[in-house]
Amino acid sequence: MTDDSYDVIVIGGGIIGCAIARDLASDYDVAVLERGQIAGEASALAAGEITMAPSYSDIPAISDHAIEFFRRYDGTGQFTFTECPSLELISPVREGESRRRVERLAAKGVNVSFVESERIETTYPRFDLPDFVGAIKYDDTGFVDPYTFAMTLKEDAESRGATFETGTMVTGLRTSGGRVQGVETTSGTCSAPTVVVAAGWRSERFLRDRLQLPIRPYRTQCVVLTPENDLRTDVPMGWIPGEHIYFRPERNGDLLVGGWSFAEDAPEHASTSDDEAFRNHVATLLPKFMHGFERARFVNGWAGIDGATPDTRPIIDAPNDGPAGLLVATGFHGRGVMSAPVAATTVRTLMTGGECPFPTGTFDLDRFESRSPDFEFRSISAGD
Ligand SMILES: Cc1cc2nc3c(=O)[nH]c(=O)nc-3n(C[C@H](O)[C@H](O)[C@H](O)COP(=O)(O)OP(=O)(O)OC[C@H]3O[C@@H](n4cnc5c(N)ncnc54)[C@H](O)[C@@H]3O)c2cc1C
Repeated sequence: MTDDSYDVIVIGGGIIGCAIARDLASDYDVAVLERGQIAGEASALAAGEITMAPSYSDIPAISDHAIEFFRRYDGTGQFTFTECPSLELISPVREGESRRRVERLAAKGVNVSFVESERIETTYPRFDLPDFVGAIKYDDTGFVDPYTFAMTLKEDAESRGATFETGTMVTGLRTSGGRVQGVETTSGTCSAPTVVVAAGWRSERFLRDRLQLPIRPYRTQCVVLTPENDLRTDVPMGWIPGEHIYFRPERNGDLLVGGWSFAEDAPEHASTSDDEAFRNHVATLLPKFMHGFERARFVNGWAGIDGATPDTRPIIDAPNDGPAGLLVATGFHGRGVMSAPVAATTVRTLMTGGECPFPTGTFDLDRFESRSPDFEFRSISAGD
């Protein structure tokens, strides 16, 4: 690359950059510039949970858009979307509030119900729920393999004409007269009237001199366990509010457990292994509500860095106080895989000025009174 020209440059080949490139590539000449490998950072480390229904229960049009995409996209190339209900386990003190919440959400059209513990234990014999009265069951949820998802989006984008340059670090934004002109990279300059910054937690640092973004890196982790007997027993996805863990079945009968998110002020040096304390926490907690995990076998574990925002929702916007032609899609706060179709549609709408099938105000940068990245980090478990 010496001085190539495109309609749109996307900085970052994570799941968000790949989804945006795929969506735009039919109508625009798009290049994705990635400093490392495609999905080489947070994206491939994700648990792959698609739980937009609980995460956006206040704006069902957003979760509907995402789930419809995953259902449609299932079977594209190597990509598979496994539908699987998700249970928010409810302790006795939360029963009244939870039942009222279910009624409210069902009236808004969310596919949700309250299920008593005995019925859960009958449907899923792996469960043993003495400490819970039941669960809020969400039906429009499931899981994906995030790396396969990213690679399928990339291949799809390429077949529509997009270019991907890996091992190419973008070092700066080129602007003139308040307008974006392109970018500087380690391999030369690149011109485009539109630049989308989809650089994960690094977006804040990349834009710091031009535009302040309230994005803070945080670290979160996963472990995979093999239960000690009858691997094939059907298990749904779920989470326990307050314990900051979530779980989902693997297709081979293992269980993936994720959680424990903490702000990370030295993300470049953070450990990529799961913490022993997290592993011990999971080992203590699981036998309290599932059979077969008293002596489960540890398969593997890992940790990764994602970008957080003060309210846990991403920033997908063409900021008013940035140069014309600059868009940002960052701060996916543990939900970037499931949000990828929504991010792509939002960016397309921002570019074309067309009508969006869901309200996008919840993604505006202007919603934050303070743009400081030094905010108090809020942890989420799948459905918060
Ligand atoms: C352990 C873990 C579990 C998770 N589980 C889930 C889950 O179950 N469901 C879910 O939806 N989400 C989950 N997430 C969150 C999800 O992984 C992220 O929200 C999502 O991957 C963010 O995608 P992204 O493309 O914005 O960022 P990234 O994947 O970080 O991609 C950004 C890319 O930009 C590149 N880049 C940065 N700066 C530059 C530059 N200057 N020039 C060129 N390239 C640059 C980086 O190399 C990187 O590849 C999880 C995350 C972790 C860590």
